[in-house]
Amino acid sequence: MEYLSDRIKSLSASATLAMAQKSRELKAMGFDIISLSVGEPDFNTPEYIKDAGKKAIDDNFSKYPPVSGFNDLREAVSKKFREENGIRYAPEQIVVSAGGKHSLINVLLCIVNPGDEVIIPAPYWVSYYDQVLLAGGKPVIVEATIDDDFKISPDQLEAAITAKTRIIIFNSPSNPTGMVYSGDELEAIARVIEKHEGLFVMTDEIYEHILFSGEHVSLASFDFIYDRVITVNGISKSYAMTGWRLGYIGAPLWIAKACDKLQSQFTSGVCTIAQKAAVAALTRDDGSRKMMRDAFLRRRDLICNLLRGIEGIKFRIPEGAFYIMPDISFYLGKTDGEKTINTADELAIYLLEKAQVAVVGGDAFGAPKCIRLSYATSDELLIEAVKRIKETLEKLK
Ligand code: PMP
Ligand code: GLU
Repeated sequence: MEYLSDRIKSLSASATLAMAQKSRELKAMGFDIISLSVGEPDFNTPEYIKDAGKKAIDDNFSKYPPVSGFNDLREAVSKKFREENGIRYAPEQIVVSAGGKHSLINVLLCIVNPGDEVIIPAPYWVSYYDQVLLAGGKPVIVEATIDDDFKISPDQLEAAITAKTRIIIFNSPSNPTGMVYSGDELEAIARVIEKHEGLFVMTDEIYEHILFSGEHVSLASFDFIYDRVITVNGISKSYAMTGWRLGYIGAPLWIAKACDKLQSQFTSGVCTIAQKAAVAALTRDDGSRKMMRDAFLRRRDLICNLLRGIEGIKFRIPEGAFYIMPDISFYLGKTDGEKTINTADELAIYLLEKAQVAVVGGDAFGAPKCIRLSYATSDELLIEAVKRIKETLEKLK
């Protein structure tokens, strides 16, 4: 007999990780699966960072770390925020966690009360929705479609705010759409937040370095809302370190202290070796960050060109991150004679079975007419994957 809590029963598993797991299993069974599902750089962690991790082992960093992170790491993060983003976060305002994903749930657990509303612009990254539920909050979705370039307007945001709204989760460059808000658009969003006392914004800037034009603008750099912003970032994407599991926040001191208290009962802090590697990542530059960004840009152009060859597919050219979110509504209701495709999720499963290409259906991202493709893979695999997708879709009438 199983006795699971209602909390865990009502939680969905991460759709991105589920698809990644499914393609791993099929590959292990011998199927020739191309995975454009999970979003992670296909590069190895740069050598100088790996060396710092190895040195941390040899230097015996084997004891419990301070709960919010080693001082040198919090100082490195503080300096990064100051120099790259123009934000002043003292080291005490930094909390290091086991990935940006962990940073996000920490903050939600610290400031959301049961019944509080949390605004999430859609399309959104899968975990936001379920993390809000886990924290007892009520997700309030503000929808942007492909015709809006997948970006919400200040008026839409204003209209969604109620007396119960506690926090907005913001993400640019965006997973899953790759869209980026301009400095002016961000300022307009910040002005809406400014008007509502007691309203916070958690801005997830984990893709800031994978930006194809212009400069990244941080919401916390707008002084008039600085004390109502929690900035989430991490090393997974910029430094190809998804498996090291390290992310961080910069936040008002009282939020940082609350996250410290929470972590003291949850994790006791982050793996010491990953922390020392993160110090190296943030304080040195061997050019790999730019090399990877340039590769993603080249692949962005490649996948856009390839997708243009498929009938009925609509998309926006991504401006950052390594995802593209085509609108596939042209194919909904179509059939191959045996199977009719009714939803984007069904199309994703169909592509996995027939084309042996793993993509993620849009439902879990709040984008039911779309699918998400991660193009963080080699040119050859991208070419082959889109060829297979095209051939499979051509059979749907
Ligand atoms: N935010 C977004 C938008 C992401 O795509 C990811 C990637 N999984 C994360 C946060 C969390 O990344 P990590 O936990 O690896 O730092
Ligand atoms: N950010 C990645 C993705 O969206 C990693 C998977 C996850 O953490 O859910 O695919």
